[in-house]
Amino acid sequence: MTGALQQEVLFDSHCHWDHPKLQALQPDLWQACLDTGVQDILVPATRAQDWPALIALCTPHPHWHLALGLHPYFLAQHQTSHMSQLQHLVAHTKPVAIGEIGLDWHLPESTWAAQEVLFIAQLKLAQKEGLPVILHVRKCHDRVIKLLRQQKFSEAGIVHAYSGNETQAQAYADMGFKLGVGGTITYERARKTRHLVSRLPLSWLVLETDAPDMPMVHQIDRLNRPDALPKVLAVLASIRAEDRALLAQQTTSNCLSVLKLS
Ligand SMILES: [Zn+2]
Repeated sequence: MTGALQQEVLFDSHCHWDHPKLQALQPDLWQACLDTGVQDILVPATRAQDWPALIALCTPHPHWHLALGLHPYFLAQHQTSHMSQLQHLVAHTKPVAIGEIGLDWHLPESTWAAQEVLFIAQLKLAQKEGLPVILHVRKCHDRVIKLLRQQKFSEAGIVHAYSGNETQAQAYADMGFKLGVGGTITYERARKTRHLVSRLPLSWLVLETDAPDMPMVHQIDRLNRPDALPKVLAVLASIRAEDRALLAQQTTSNCLSVLKLS
């Protein structure tokens, strides 16, 4: 049945594509992505030491979209000089977003103030450069929403692996943000997240794998891969009782618009 099905065009809005576990599978992995309809990937940064390789990997490729930033989880590895390096690199490499940035309240409370200083500095940079942000938020959506409002942040972005409630989702959506839906929903036990994504407006949602982290249900060797994104789509279609092709089209278009790629 060649050509009988029109292929879905999917955008993985969060994949650590530069990770050695994924690059070790190249070039076959990218071919596998294309074969399953995953035609674009947003590649967020985490630490300054990884930026040069990340930039070298993504900038020559039209479908591997670069984000640059300092991830809150690696706070202990960030140095003051990294912020000025980031400003310089953003001006010269033209990433599509600043990320991933945010707050992680799984880390000890003693780190929270320093996390906020870093987060706010990166929000200011994104605002100045007119770039959206890729947010990592654990256990502190209300605080992040408050800071986004205080900063009058108006470039929007994506809340990666969204784990908040419906009220918080509305607050993000009011600021133009999209919410990342990933492999968590492939687990039947993830009732809260599955219930939430079944109710939110489709115009708020984007798809992600977070590969190679966050393995999905039944994934071999627990290695997550971007070509598994259609699994997220299939589960989302089933729990929303909506047409799979419509979900593919709308989530991809949400992603392109929030990243200002369309
Ligand atoms: Zn990530």
